[in-house]
Amino acid sequence: MSTTLAKSTTTDSVVHYTLEAIDQMRLWSTIPDPDLLQAVLKPTRQIVLEIPLRRDDGKYETFQGYRVQHNNSRGPYKGGLRFHPDVDVNEARTLAHLMSLKTAVANIPFGGGKGGIAVDPRSLSVYELERLTRSFTNLLGDNIGPYRDIPAPDVNTNGQVMAWIVDEYAKKHDHSLGVVTGKPIELGGSLGRDEATGRGVMIAVREAARERGCDIKKARVIFQGFGNVSSFGARLIENELGGKVIGVSTSKGAIYNEKGIDLLSAEAHYHKNRDLKDFPGVTWMTNDELLVQDCDILIPGALEKAITAANARDIKASILVEAANDCTDFEADKILNERNIFVVPDILANAGGVVVSYFEWVQNLSNHYWDLAKVRQELERIMVAAYAQTSSVAGEHKYSMRMAAYTSAIERIVRAMALRGV
Ligand code: NAD
Repeated sequence: MSTTLAKSTTTDSVVHYTLEAIDQMRLWSTIPDPDLLQAVLKPTRQIVLEIPLRRDDGKYETFQGYRVQHNNSRGPYKGGLRFHPDVDVNEARTLAHLMSLKTAVANIPFGGGKGGIAVDPRSLSVYELERLTRSFTNLLGDNIGPYRDIPAPDVNTNGQVMAWIVDEYAKKHDHSLGVVTGKPIELGGSLGRDEATGRGVMIAVREAARERGCDIKKARVIFQGFGNVSSFGARLIENELGGKVIGVSTSKGAIYNEKGIDLLSAEAHYHKNRDLKDFPGVTWMTNDELLVQDCDILIPGALEKAITAANARDIKASILVEAANDCTDFEADKILNERNIFVVPDILANAGGVVVSYFEWVQNLSNHYWDLAKVRQELERIMVAAYAQTSSVAGEHKYSMRMAAYTSAIERIVRAMALRGV
């Protein structure tokens, strides 16, 4: 395939960034087999399943399920399972591709995978959800396993769903907690997994601010989102770095106060009302308005494709840290680069979650469990090293942080492929 042709026709930003990275890397003298670079563009395996479910009222239905296994040259496939009506094989392929890159940037011994079921879990009873999850696990069969492919929670899946997978998997295989991560603590989960992605984002913010000469104690920070990643990230940026969070949002709208938001009260309000509307002492605005408010650091932490050509020119932040996956499309990325806005890409900024998933797997396989201090210390070590490596490649080649992260990740993957042989 001609990379130039593909570049002009693809609308998938992840493929676009990968093609750009491959074009750059063809000029490197250090790549053992440049032909292998193409291999990262395509997944190894795409599994499409028709999953049967007997509803509580006796009716029979089927739902489509997917698992895309992108690359396992550096270790077992690793990535989430999402239950959502919009799940399809294309989305799973993009996200599996991102996972291969993310595990390589973090330099943990996994590849990339992703999957899910095209279903609205709110339309199912808890018994139906359990039967559907077990049915999916059965159909996946030997395609998952602690040394093969290790799923984890993603949109609308959680520790309970992972517990059902552990139990169903054990019926036909040896008992193995390491078949999935993101499990409840009582069933082999790791301490610190709930805060891990937000903590990793906080570390990325700290390192980026240091590199750009931004005094984090005076920095005004806006988050898009107020879920797992954003609420932990916001709290840690305030508590551990001394930064000031001046805006957060949910699917229904955003709150903003240039003097800062009382995060604990906002969280309590959100949990009580499932909404931030009517939270006192703030300005209520749309999500789109929040993204372009005056601030120093902007952190999209909710949705894919949040930053597009439609809003990239209006962003006021000088640093943008991508907590959500695939949140900046390639046209927007070009504009941000032209405007000299410093972007820490998703595959680096939100890697904290998969890093602590790796710790969970290590603990399961060794049957030896860590305390929270050790989890945090190891996460800090891995995130700081990943940031430093990316920043060093960016400096050496005059790349953006995104191009540096993509090229570093692809280099690690193709080196492993070359060593193993094709
Ligand atoms: P979550 O479901 O806990 O929270 C999502 C938040 O986004 C909610 O507060 C929701 O109200 C808000 N939201 C939804 N639509 C919105 C909109 N249009 N505008 C503003 N806010 C909106 O999800 P999460 O676990 O925090 O994940 C957020 C993002 O981070 C996703 O892209 C996810 O793939 C990515 N991510 C998560 C993890 C993790 O460990 N949870 C790891 C890596 C990447």
